[in-house]
Amino acid sequence: MSTAARTLLLFCAGAVAAAAACPPRHGARTTIGAAGEQLCAKHREPLQAVTVYGPGDGACVLVQQTKTARAARACSPNALPFAISRTRNALYSRAVAASYCKRCEAEVQAHAR
Ligand SMILES: [Zn+2]
Repeated sequence: MSTAARTLLLFCAGAVAAAAACPPRHGARTTIGAAGEQLCAKHREPLQAVTVYGPGDGACVLVQQTKTARAARACSPNALPFAISRTRNALYSRAVAASYCKRCEAEVQAHAR
């Protein structure tokens, strides 16, 4: 086995181990804080309200997330929805109100690369 193949194999094994380190979450995604605010059930942090953009009318966007990103999303219950854009553009033109946990989103982004 070549050095490059071993490196790739170790990288893949590490990615699978990282994804497996965080088991999928079950149960409620959110909880209510002492002041009545909505909190991430995993991180106990307030959710952030944000406007994101989905595909406009008549647009069909075919994208697939990586296996590690899907696993990270399964254990990060309040990440931003998949297949949206944070900026409006020609393809993603429909504004959608969303709420998310910054730490959940950071976990998903760390595995999306
Ligand atoms: Zn969270």
